[in-house]
Amino acid sequence: MLDVQNLNAFYGPAQALFDVSLQVAPGELVVLQGLNGAGKSTLLKSVMGLEVRTEGSIRYQVQDPVGSSTAGPVAIERWDTHRRARAGLGYVAEDRRLFTDLTVRENLRIAVRRDAAALEARALDLFPALKTMLERRAAQMSGGEQQMLAIARTLMTAPRILLLDEPCEGIAPVLVESIRDALLTLKQEGLGLLVAEQNQLLASRADRLVLLVAGKVRGS
Ligand code: ATP
Repeated sequence: MLDVQNLNAFYGPAQALFDVSLQVAPGELVVLQGLNGAGKSTLLKSVMGLEVRTEGSIRYQVQDPVGSSTAGPVAIERWDTHRRARAGLGYVAEDRRLFTDLTVRENLRIAVRRDAAALEARALDLFPALKTMLERRAAQMSGGEQQMLAIARTLMTAPRILLLDEPCEGIAPVLVESIRDALLTLKQEGLGLLVAEQNQLLASRADRLVLLVAGKVRGS
């Protein structure tokens, strides 16, 4: 469970989020919507501890390595990004941040220390299209294929909550369907998903839509 309460976020003196509260439960798909500049990316970065200064509470139910939960949610808002990632928060940025000179397999393996073969098999089952291009460099893949690879790479860290920034933007409809189906499978397996996304193919499957307007959750 991810529990954000009264979050304010700042780039220097400029405030980008105002008193944002939201929760993502295990197995829940929450889709963040809003116009360009509304603060969707900023919210995801705030949860990961990236680039932006925050005030407010971010609590997370930390899991031990075999998946059973420890006592209760803990405050993570002072943790650095790596610690949040190790605790089970997985993030895919809007620009995907792949190593474009590396192959699909190298991108998948680069950050993983344990259980790489099993995690890779699982990620490739979710995105079978990647199986046919394991030795291809990321630079030679389409935007949609790169997006699948970016999500698959994040899955190699065995996250419990996935934060995705516009995974379907600019992607061919058939690949959007593949990404949607993979995300729905992960949801069924109990991952919590917080996804900034305008695409209706995904948004229509959300458990909850959260609309950001000028840095505030509409309706709160
Ligand atoms: P988009 O769909 O265009 O990515 P968004 O809803 O994700 O929009 P954010 O990127 O979170 O919106 O931007 C929220 C506000 O914060 C905007 O006013 C934006 O100009 C500002 N902002 C974002 N990144 C920075 C930054 N690195 N430095 C200063 N201001 C920023």
